[in-house]
Amino acid sequence: MGDLSQEPDQMTSNGMMILLKHTATAKQKKSLVEHIRSQGCDACLFEDDLRAIVITVDNMQEPVEVELSDWPFIERLLPSNQPFLLASRDYREKNTHVKVGEKKSGKGGSDVVFGSETAYVIAGPCAVEFESTTLEIARHVKKAGCRLFRGGTFKPRSSPYSFQGLGRDGLRILEKVRKETGLHIVTEVLEIHDLDDVAAVADVIQIGTRNMSNFNLLKQLGGIKKPVLLKRGMSSTIKEFLMAAEYILANGNPNVILCERGIRTFETYTRFNLDINAVPAIKELSHLPIIIDPSHATGIGRLVEPVALAGIAAGADGILMEVHTDPSNSFSDGAQAIQVDLLAPLTRKLNGVAEVIGRKVV
Ligand code: PEP
Ligand code: MN
Repeated sequence: MGDLSQEPDQMTSNGMMILLKHTATAKQKKSLVEHIRSQGCDACLFEDDLRAIVITVDNMQEPVEVELSDWPFIERLLPSNQPFLLASRDYREKNTHVKVGEKKSGKGGSDVVFGSETAYVIAGPCAVEFESTTLEIARHVKKAGCRLFRGGTFKPRSSPYSFQGLGRDGLRILEKVRKETGLHIVTEVLEIHDLDDVAAVADVIQIGTRNMSNFNLLKQLGGIKKPVLLKRGMSSTIKEFLMAAEYILANGNPNVILCERGIRTFETYTRFNLDINAVPAIKELSHLPIIIDPSHATGIGRLVEPVALAGIAAGADGILMEVHTDPSNSFSDGAQAIQVDLLAPLTRKLNGVAEVIGRKVV
């Protein structure tokens, strides 16, 4: 695993993971936690489908001492100066597979699985608009062979005078999109009090760049088993991005898809700057799938295709992109939307690149 401890900031942690054998009993786990706590260190037990681990956290004055011979049910210790543990490759060597939607039995049943050999295009308008426009775009997305439809109904706009989205009315339109096309729905939630309503409609719940550090919201997402598409904060480091993912994992939801959507740099020609490095870097550091968003990263429709191709070449597990039947009249982010007719030829080109690295794009 790469070393993030070189980064000159204050976020060091004395956290350590203690991986337990599958045979460890509840009593043994409890006694280990108590032993660590008796040394003045905080410890908690974390269990998921993969394994049980004890995570020690926070400001230990001295490294905690655990004599392996005293605890035969310990598989291995992972002392770590990394502030994210469950998101790390140390915890899970193999890629996490994030499944989207219900398996359709009897219909070939090929689920959408992020983190697999296949990369997916998630396409749709920035915002859910009129029902007729939204359905028309969705039909094109379906025709292009894509499986996932994006569209925000709660919109985090930079200006308070810009279109803020249709809110709950927009969710009803997204339900119609799914019913008619069978596309999986990716839509954003902004606030905790809307989470249940959004989760009832979304197949993937999007957390936008401005909410990546809304830790209370991230904690709530831990209680929901639906996949979460977590976008990188526009001014966040890779380490901060993975710590945000850790909030969701540590609170119980392993289904996180990361999204590199461009960061702020000194460059002003493009809206943001897609950090292409983040794709292979995150693949090295984490087992979570990572997709890219060339629309928000560039802010310029004609740059979306080449940047999307670069993302697939770099190993991205998907592309999130804004498409529209009439980009210049779209309610938001029209400059970066591509004509939805271009989606099918673009997907073919993405497949050409994917083939070189033994993958495919749907
Ligand atoms: C979006 O996907 O429409 C969006 C608002 O993205 P971001 O949070 O990356 O700006
Ligand atoms: Mn947008």
